[in-house]
Amino acid sequence: MPSLDIVGDDLKVELPSGETVRFAHLDYAASAPCAQAAADAVAELLPRYGSVHRGTGVRSQASTIAYELARDVVAEFAGAGDDHSVIFTRNTTDALNLLARALPPGTTTIQFDGEHHANLLPWPNVLRLPTPASPDEAVAALDRVLRGRALRGITGPAVFTVTGASNVTGEVWPVRRLADVAHAYGVRVIVDAAQLAPHHPVSLADLGADYLAFSGHKLYAPFGAGVLAGRTDWLDAAEPYLAGGGASAVVGDRPDDLTWATGPARHEGGTPNLLGAVALAAVCAALITADRDALHAHEQALLGRLRDGLRAIPEAVEVSVFGPDQPRVGIVSLHLPGHDPAAIAQRLGREHGIGVRAGQFCAHPLVRRLIGTAEAGAAEAGAAGAGTAGAGAAGAGAAEARECATATGLLRVSFGLGSTADDVDRLLTGLAAALRT
Ligand code: PMP
Repeated sequence: MPSLDIVGDDLKVELPSGETVRFAHLDYAASAPCAQAAADAVAELLPRYGSVHRGTGVRSQASTIAYELARDVVAEFAGAGDDHSVIFTRNTTDALNLLARALPPGTTTIQFDGEHHANLLPWPNVLRLPTPASPDEAVAALDRVLRGRALRGITGPAVFTVTGASNVTGEVWPVRRLADVAHAYGVRVIVDAAQLAPHHPVSLADLGADYLAFSGHKLYAPFGAGVLAGRTDWLDAAEPYLAGGGASAVVGDRPDDLTWATGPARHEGGTPNLLGAVALAAVCAALITADRDALHAHEQALLGRLRDGLRAIPEAVEVSVFGPDQPRVGIVSLHLPGHDPAAIAQRLGREHGIGVRAGQFCAHPLVRRLIGTAEAGAAEAGAAGAGTAGAGAAGAGAAEARECATATGLLRVSFGLGSTADDVDRLLTGLAAALRT
């Protein structure tokens, strides 16, 4: 039975006080630790490791079988059907870039502007909509744009690309509802599931997605593989992502005498990352059979504990796109008026043995807007004398605080499998101390 225990769960760090504590890793959204299932799968295959799709020897045969089995498991995890392909990539960024290059010529891309840069930057002919204030607004905005698409000159193929869960706020986007709208206008849907897949089942059919991208290193399989799963037709019609061996079926003597492979091989030029694929599939297999409801309940309990505890730390202002009640995965980002979040993150690491992330998380437009909104909220509360979260700090030097925070971003806390209530409690204690001393 593949195990979802965490490798290095008991990693210890020494604090300046001389005390040794368990490292509290609260930066899963950047890279999750390795699951035992992934480490075991790699260790098991290594003695038989060889080239994929190339050799007749026992190593090559075992490796080819392992690679294609991994594809089957990932296909099941992603709910891929007969008209879908599963392509192993390096990560989500790679998967989305691959897909961007495979779109038919003249495709228009529609998106909201709060995406991670991996889902913001690769696309052609982008129509970028302002990030909406609610899921209903998101659905209405997409519908409005698509209804008027001819006026905007969108006459050819179009795609709508959206994150499943925000890497900044953890909020889950209303993907199914948006997909239904997009499909009503014949627009295909791409879901950046980098942050959703580690926390929720991600089936193409259930999400209503045509394409799904995610990364192994965020899914407890840090061996350099990612996935693009989605409809085969455009992928098979596109130029190969990487020209070379594997992607080519027949190469003649003349430069133009060449037939590209179809199926996943077309976009997997070169020797594939066998160990990455096998590790990723091992975690997918473990998650397929896991009690996802129990995992979800544990994560939501930690989230509740963290957010309850934060109420006692008004210097830290939770940010959100859709408001505090929107369902979210185990990610919370905090605006710290008057403080440099990078310095606070460093103190949490050095003085408390806690790993978090500070910055703009490769989502600059969104983070800038969230900070602006938080600052405006604090200024309003300050002007009204309400004394609510952030108002004190804003009153103490709003302009300076705004400049500092805007320059450096937010502080992000994120967790997943293996995270404990003690991790959360230590974060709360450490954060209060770092902000107040
Ligand atoms: N999308 C989202 C929502 C992410 O959080 C990330 C990683 N932070 C990416 C895409 C890119 O993932 P990768 O770095 O693995 O390519």
